Amino acid sequence: MAKDVWEEALNQFNRGAKILKLDESIVELLTNPKRIFQVSIPVRMDNGKIKVFQGFRVQFNDFRGPTKGGIRYHPNVDIHEVKALSFWMTWKNAVVDVPFGGGKGGIICNPKELSQGELERLSRGYIEGMHKYIGSEKDIPAPDMYTNPQIMAWMVDEYHRIEGHNVFGMITGKPLELGGSEGRMQATAQGGVYVLEEALKTYNVTNPTIAVQGFGNVGMIAAKLLAAKGFKIVAVSDSKEGIYNKEGLDIATVSKHKSETKSVKDFPESTAITNEELLELDVEVLVPAALEGVITKKNVDNIKAKFILELANGPVSAEAREVLFKKEQIAIPDILANSGGVAVSYFEWVQNNIGYAWDEKEVLEKLKAKMSLAFDNVYETSKEFNIDFGTAAYIYAIRKMVKVLELRGYIK
Ligand code: GLU
Repeated sequence: MAKDVWEEALNQFNRGAKILKLDESIVELLTNPKRIFQVSIPVRMDNGKIKVFQGFRVQFNDFRGPTKGGIRYHPNVDIHEVKALSFWMTWKNAVVDVPFGGGKGGIICNPKELSQGELERLSRGYIEGMHKYIGSEKDIPAPDMYTNPQIMAWMVDEYHRIEGHNVFGMITGKPLELGGSEGRMQATAQGGVYVLEEALKTYNVTNPTIAVQGFGNVGMIAAKLLAAKGFKIVAVSDSKEGIYNKEGLDIATVSKHKSETKSVKDFPESTAITNEELLELDVEVLVPAALEGVITKKNVDNIKAKFILELANGPVSAEAREVLFKKEQIAIPDILANSGGVAVSYFEWVQNNIGYAWDEKEVLEKLKAKMSLAFDNVYETSKEFNIDFGTAAYIYAIRKMVKVLELRGYIK
């Protein structure tokens, strides 16, 4: 399964590379990871016994700057998935124009089954195993699925313990008190909202109805921000179930229900729907904010939304994006739609480097400018080649990479 994720990532890139007639040797250079690390992390569990966890880090490509990307804690994460995610980071960082290469990490674990103490020891163990290879100018991790500011705090502290001094810029997504940035918590969702606003403006769509798949860190915040704009959110879902109300859901109450019951399930004044049904609703905007591979050639014909805002990593296949484009539906690809997270990570890193903190207003203004520009660049490329936004985003990013490879002397 996870091997398919890598195949899919490669497929997306290859479409862009083919259109640009990229030389085979350059394709080879850009599709092989620079470094892959795997560490065994022994953790003393609360029962007194040692358990060994496996951790990964892939530094895919650092031609445009130090490698950058989150760390995922998940029972099913494996090296193929981390490799795909680090490859996506390479292109995402180029699309949103931050001076980073692509990296990603992961630990095979189920954080829901770990105590806080176990989670802390595991997170510190990961840094102990990796500290030589990460750092502010080398490789800069951040949160991803099931990791959060507290985990980043333990990691920055462990790095401090080993190195003997503070290096805040070695990791981003930290708590504000420990060198974090204003706006980072909502950055992925907020960046997606800015991109969507730009798309709605470009295509003259007002007051869209919206369905959001995934009610976690990204999906829930996106739903809140979109509801605050006055847009009607008719459906949301989590891993258990979806809820639907054609008059619109009160997102603040749904999120209260979710925090009390751990699910959106059984929310009053709504009809239960499955995750599959949510994807096929007749709405203007669909926001897949949970899993990889949810829209593929299998269900693409049933998708009705005019815009698909890919807030998850890899939710829509390249093939599906192309089919949608032919039906005049626009899949705004992950490497554009969810790049607000790493954009504010970049701002956090800059603030750490200069030793100054910007206020939220300043961070959000900078984010908005970056996201709007990234959207315009992908939109223009899509028009230039009459191609779907996914392939256009790769074309735009690959061209940028090629320029750097010329300057570095790889392309004569
Ligand atoms: N994990 C996030 C992503 O997939 C953020 C990465 C970062 O901030 O470095 O884009």
